[in-house]
Amino acid sequence: MSAPLGTVLVTGGAGYIGSHACKALARAGYQPVTFDNLSTGWRDAVQFGPFEQGDLSDRARLDEVFARWKPQAVMHFAALSLVGDSMRDPGRYWRGNILSAVTLVEAAVAAGCLDFVFSSTCATYGDQDGVILTEETAQHPINAYGKSKLAIEQMLADFAASHGLRPVIFRYFNVAGADPEAQVGEFHQPETHLVPLMLDAVAGKRPALTVFGTDYPTRDGTCVRDYVHVMDLVDAHVLGLKRLLGGGAPAVYCLGTGSGFSVREVIDQSRLVTNREVPVTYGPRRAGDAVTLVCGSDKAARELGWAPARSTMEHMIADAWRWHQTGHYDR
Ligand code: UDP
Repeated sequence: MSAPLGTVLVTGGAGYIGSHACKALARAGYQPVTFDNLSTGWRDAVQFGPFEQGDLSDRARLDEVFARWKPQAVMHFAALSLVGDSMRDPGRYWRGNILSAVTLVEAAVAAGCLDFVFSSTCATYGDQDGVILTEETAQHPINAYGKSKLAIEQMLADFAASHGLRPVIFRYFNVAGADPEAQVGEFHQPETHLVPLMLDAVAGKRPALTVFGTDYPTRDGTCVRDYVHVMDLVDAHVLGLKRLLGGGAPAVYCLGTGSGFSVREVIDQSRLVTNREVPVTYGPRRAGDAVTLVCGSDKAARELGWAPARSTMEHMIADAWRWHQTGHYDR
């Protein structure tokens, strides 16, 4: 099986963002090969190319997969990614995220596959008091998740210097929405994210959404976040890949809309989109939550031509709601 533009190894391709990336890659003419251990991903999310089950800490398994598919590039999404979890069990995050990334990068270098797209996070910045984050903002992560991702960014730079690895790194915050055709969508077990929890409450699958804190110094007392539509996000990854394959230099890009939504604004928009009430209760602040997180994307626009087309709250909730109603959440 071969694709016109070549093969891309997608780690975490059975997860939320990875499965959407596979769809975008296939649509752009690449063959996405998913590598996933299914610890948090779903086998039936792998619909757009071959599946290789395996763990990223297993070098022999990785070597086998690189030899079999001879990918032109890697997109690395697989990671443990819950901030609260990383505070409770930092060892799991350091071991899991770092060991996976080092093993993967060493296998890629050994296979001569040097174009490497890495899904990082704005959690590498830490709490920056409401400034709009850019690629130049100093990184001071405040939780083990962010620290493990920053360590991987630094490790990629070392491999670039020593082995000619060519990394493109994306940093972003809140990802929402789903494939507008509802072939794939967001489904975590357990779920901790605002939009799917809210839609569960709307659909009666949970008693209510708990709003974490109403006394923040924001326009309505609730936290403000920059939400990007998952399809826009993965489009940026494909643009980054094309840049690398076209000979462009390694780079870092922030992906955000530059403006934020409060939790109450997300709830209000949900009411408009679904035409249903959101059952809400109000609780205390969640430990580790920053007040306002917003990130710019001028560089991605300028250098990659990234123009987020679906990242309005209306689109994100409408697409998530459509996916929610497919019943995939009832498995
Ligand atoms: N949030 C909330 N109730 C929930 C889940 C999230 O009020 O049940 C808030 C959370 O405090 C944050 C925003 O929604 O301000 C987005 O949280 P999420 O966990 O989706 O993403 P994060 O910002 O942690 O990456």
